[in-house]
Amino acid sequence: MPPVTSALRECHRLRTHLRNLQAEIDAGPRVLAENKEELDTQRAEHQAHYDTITRLKLKQREDEGTLKQTDERLAKLRDQLEALVAPKERAAKELEITHAEEKKANLEDTILATITELEEKHAAVPAVEAKWKAARDEFKQFETDAAERLQRMTEDTAASRTDLTAAEAHLPRDVKALYDQIVKAKGPEAFAGAKNRVCQGCRSTMTETQFMDLRDGTFRTCVNCGRMQYPVE
Ligand SMILES: [Zn+2]
Repeated sequence: MPPVTSALRECHRLRTHLRNLQAEIDAGPRVLAENKEELDTQRAEHQAHYDTITRLKLKQREDEGTLKQTDERLAKLRDQLEALVAPKERAAKELEITHAEEKKANLEDTILATITELEEKHAAVPAVEAKWKAARDEFKQFETDAAERLQRMTEDTAASRTDLTAAEAHLPRDVKALYDQIVKAKGPEAFAGAKNRVCQGCRSTMTETQFMDLRDGTFRTCVNCGRMQYPVE
């Protein structure tokens, strides 16, 4: 390919590549924030497990205290019943005892359920710890990878800029002036390949003569979209 159109094709490739690199570099902080957010979610989940254990232990202790009081009250009520003779008074005391017994049975069920739940929570601790460690490891790996990726992209950007300058050096001075104007306005969209006379930027068709000129290395812009063209085989 003649130097001018060849240089335009290379400039197109490099400017597109540089724009994509910059977009990925710019997205870095957002991707990092997303990963941090996920880590925070995992941290909260991990903490919540131990908070639940603390809460259940407290509940168990409180319920056991209430159970002890209920037992003491039952003993007292039974003593009181012993002393009563009148049927009406005895019936009232028996009802009180029945209620206290129900309360006791309910408390015992609740305590048993709490103990069972606590056992499950304790049994799950290794899995909870493993999950939390995996989350931290994953984040650490992400940070390492991101730093490497950024380093690579920064180097690639510098190299591509050098290559771009070299490619642009092939453009004659009059072409370069126009090139600068169009690039300033359109960025990487300043270029378009032309395949079988069709502009790849806007799909318009050029004449056979125009396409011949283009293949001969004549600098031209698309009459329809204004992009600088180069032939594509
Ligand atoms: Zn066009």
